[in-house]
Amino acid sequence: MRNNGRRVDEFREFDISCNNSKQALRSCNVKLGSTIVQVNIYKSDEFKVVTFGKCNSFDARCLEEVNKFILNNVEEKLYIEQFIISDDGSVSMAIFEAMLACLNEEIQSSNNIKALTFGINDDEILFDLDFKEMQNISKKAFLIKEIDGDIFSFFIEGEMTAQELSDILILGQGKINQSEKITKKDKIMNKEIIIATKNKGKATEFEIMFSKYGYEVKTLLDFPNLPDIVENGKTFTENATIKAETLSKYLNLPVLGDDSGLCVDALKGMPGIYSARFAKDHDDAANNAKLLSELAGVEELNRTAHFHTSLVFVAPNKENLVVEGEVEGLIAQFPIGDNGFGYDPLFYIPELGKTMAELTKEQKNQISHRAMAMQKLAKVWKNWLEGEQ
Ligand code: IMP
Repeated sequence: MRNNGRRVDEFREFDISCNNSKQALRSCNVKLGSTIVQVNIYKSDEFKVVTFGKCNSFDARCLEEVNKFILNNVEEKLYIEQFIISDDGSVSMAIFEAMLACLNEEIQSSNNIKALTFGINDDEILFDLDFKEMQNISKKAFLIKEIDGDIFSFFIEGEMTAQELSDILILGQGKINQSEKITKKDKIMNKEIIIATKNKGKATEFEIMFSKYGYEVKTLLDFPNLPDIVENGKTFTENATIKAETLSKYLNLPVLGDDSGLCVDALKGMPGIYSARFAKDHDDAANNAKLLSELAGVEELNRTAHFHTSLVFVAPNKENLVVEGEVEGLIAQFPIGDNGFGYDPLFYIPELGKTMAELTKEQKNQISHRAMAMQKLAKVWKNWLEGEQ
């Protein structure tokens, strides 16, 4: 028995979703178990394939074969991006499927061709190797083959007997037919939610909400090879949506995006979406100093402001779920308090007679904009994610 109770000849769950990038001519995302890849194709003056992210050395060798096959079979000049988003082995198989789906106009018999990884372990032939198997099994093979037809590529690593080689070819033939039956699934099978942040503190707050219901929470730290996202929206909700939609398309998983900031009425809502970089990127002291200088001479009555949070939940085949939260206050004349972060020392809450930076973490978590948005989300997310739509 293999990891996750898989039989020796069993493939992992396979899911494919196409045209998930707005910029690319064609694009495709493939999941093979926990392996996730993305292929984007653009028109170009020359044929070029670029791979982002790392994989096991055997898989890297298989990927060379995949790209050789594509180069030999595609005449059009194209720029092809391959992203290894999450490597749990057989990245080459997943990229091959994504490439064929993108190039089915260029490669005539693309429906008939399959790529497979194999390993021989104690006389058993294993298909579709996962990451651990790729590392631990010394006898491995890779095959690109047409169903009932030509072999385009076959290579092995480790010493194999003639019998083992012929077994692989014969078994591979049967499996190639069978793998045709692996079909696209629309339902989300894994209970995984990605929080679009690299901030562990933020992720922990969400984890508490989701893990109660058996969801595993991951952050961008789990996917170091994802492309950077340009947040060029005009509102908090637009920015949170850009983050969550882009990542959900790449990962084909539910993604929660957030964006927060401070809006000051006397400054026409500034710093708003520019809160983190009002004076200098993520420099709280500089941002607070700039805020005070912009409000110099503005009397207390007119120093009204609010913190805002937008949370946008995006999942494959679902309408986005958007919730927002706000907390009202006044901008103080000088910073008070040592807790919190950002503009907290300047954000005075008249009802409490304190700035946000004078509150304990627990007190802030009762009244903050983020807390308000999370309370709303807590009421609706489960029905939204698990319900039919
Ligand atoms: P983010 O979208 O949560 O990363 O927030 C962007 C910026 O808004 C932060 O860098 C802070 O400057 C400001 N901000 C957001 N939430 C808070 C808060 O609770 N207290 C103080 N400043 C905040």
